[in-house]
Amino acid sequence: MENDANMNSEYEIIRDAVRRFAEAVIAPASEALWEHQEFPLEIWKQAAKLGFPALPYPVQYHGGGGDWVSFAIVLEELARVDCAVANAVMANSTVSSLLYYYGTEAQKQAYLVPMLEGSRIGAIGLTEPDAGSDAANVSTRADWDGSQWVINGAKTFISNTGTGITSPVVIAAVTGKRANGRKEISNFIVPGDAPGFHYGRKLQKIGWRASSTYELSFQDCRLPAENLLGERGAGLRQTLSQISTGRVLIGALALGLLQGSLDRSLAYMKERKAFGHPISEFQALQFKVADMAVHTHAARLMIYDAAARKDRGEPFSREASMAKLFATEKAMEATHQAIQIHGGYGIMSEYPVARAMGDAKVLEIVEGTSEIQRMIISRELLA
Ligand SMILES: Cc1cc2nc3c(=O)[nH]c(=O)nc-3n(C[C@H](O)[C@H](O)[C@H](O)COP(=O)(O)OP(=O)(O)OC[C@H]3O[C@@H](n4cnc5c(N)ncnc54)[C@H](O)[C@@H]3O)c2cc1C
Repeated sequence: MENDANMNSEYEIIRDAVRRFAEAVIAPASEALWEHQEFPLEIWKQAAKLGFPALPYPVQYHGGGGDWVSFAIVLEELARVDCAVANAVMANSTVSSLLYYYGTEAQKQAYLVPMLEGSRIGAIGLTEPDAGSDAANVSTRADWDGSQWVINGAKTFISNTGTGITSPVVIAAVTGKRANGRKEISNFIVPGDAPGFHYGRKLQKIGWRASSTYELSFQDCRLPAENLLGERGAGLRQTLSQISTGRVLIGALALGLLQGSLDRSLAYMKERKAFGHPISEFQALQFKVADMAVHTHAARLMIYDAAARKDRGEPFSREASMAKLFATEKAMEATHQAIQIHGGYGIMSEYPVARAMGDAKVLEIVEGTSEIQRMIISRELLA
């Protein structure tokens, strides 16, 4: 099913390489990572060595020179086995893109290259305790004191933080007020060891458990002028310019969950017996896997289409929202049904299907909730 007729052999080589890595290296570690909510540092380093996080970036920055369809396949295959591990690569890529598109050459050398090499991992700090969907409402401040930026405020729910190699965190902060009364928001590159940058609580989660998520605080965190990313006041524009890509990639994570749910359900149905028959003979369960297969196929077409539009330089924001909305909601449904098919075993955390449902729920929330995607799609339809 993954071998769609329009998939070229290069994509299939990438899929095969990532699948082999995910099955051999991630799968055996996945339950322990989930249980201990432990960031997979060694797996990150190995994935970086194989070039997975670097794939869609130019070779001059240690990138792989690949396209975004390939990168979606990488994330899909990682998420098929462990969605939290896939998110480490996904969140790093959001920061990589911001640095690649808006960073100076010096910023790219200092921050982008180590992130793509895997010696560092990047985090994006937009969300605050009182500003999530309404990102323009951030209240972290950055004030220029004549020689440095002084940052004060708090961020929450930030992925890839507290890993020991987290650097930088790119944060959005208010740098002034516009003539129209709105906040002027700029992005700053905060190195992991910046003075005044502190970690708060490590957050305990029902999904993405092996993804390291912390509260962050900034208390007179001083940054030199060169840590401003791009133009002053362009922060929100920069972040929003990358958000459609983020939605395609979260969609790819959902696609991995869909395929994983389907594969595990089919295998279990053939092996488990009830009333003297393999449960694969029961039509009630056959229909569940039929629906999963339909949704997996449709999600795959939508996600690869949106990624291919990006690769061709075409507009793709509506397609990205549609793909994200469809894939994440269908992943939620599929992970739920996969547990049902596994019966009581499906509730046991040693079974991957049990661990996947929390991951699917996260995907309906991050990178714009389902409600926000419906707002974007309907607004465009009605414009
Ligand atoms: C595990 C995890 C990892 C995350 N990682 C990061 C990260 O790395 N970096 C980062 O910056 N953020 C991160 N986030 C934050 C995430 O992006 C936000 O949680 C998300 O944008 C939603 O914001 P919120 O939680 O404040 O919910 P709210 O915005 O408060 O939404 C609450 C509810 O209201 C609905 N709602 C809001 N506005 C509207 C509206 N106008 N119309 C209809 N309904 C509406 C929402 O859909 C939702 O159902 C992460 C979150 C999680 C859970």
